[in-house]
Amino acid sequence: MHLTDEQLNEYLDNEIPDRADIESHLASCADCAARLTVLQSLFAELDSLPDIALSTNLAVRFASTGQLVPQLPRWLTLTATLQAALALIALVAAAPFVMNLLPAIETPSFTEIFFRIQSQWLNLFTTITNYQLPNLPTLPPLQIPTLTLSLALAGASLLWLVGNGLLLRKQIR
Ligand SMILES: [Zn+2]
Repeated sequence: MHLTDEQLNEYLDNEIPDRADIESHLASCADCAARLTVLQSLFAELDSLPDIALSTNLAVRFASTGQLVPQLPRWLTLTATLQAALALIALVAAAPFVMNLLPAIETPSFTEIFFRIQSQWLNLFTTITNYQLPNLPTLPPLQIPTLTLSLALAGASLLWLVGNGLLLRKQIR
């Protein structure tokens, strides 16, 4: 009479009362001994699976609890600040060159633009004061050249970059 799979399982789990009987059978029966070895290796494999999952979980936990706030390396923020400064220098250096390349676009001074906007507002103000139905005031489009606008935008984005760099440095300290 061979051992059943159930008996072998219970033997491996140490949940069988008559271990001596089973051990004596295993000692005399190569078939059952072989089946036990197969079961044992299967159990070992199954045991190793949750172990792997657990160890990776632990690794993730260690990584996340090691530092609550991920910190950028110092050289990276330094590089970002340097890049912003370099971009600013490049923009300033390239500005006259770009203006030479685009001679068709006239570049009025900021005071000129300011006066234009002011006169526009004055126009609007007078139209509102002399408001008469049904003549709705139609504003002429603002005459700010695109180059000046794009330069102003580039300056604003550079300021934003530099500001961000400073903020990052403050956070790291
Ligand atoms: Zn047997």
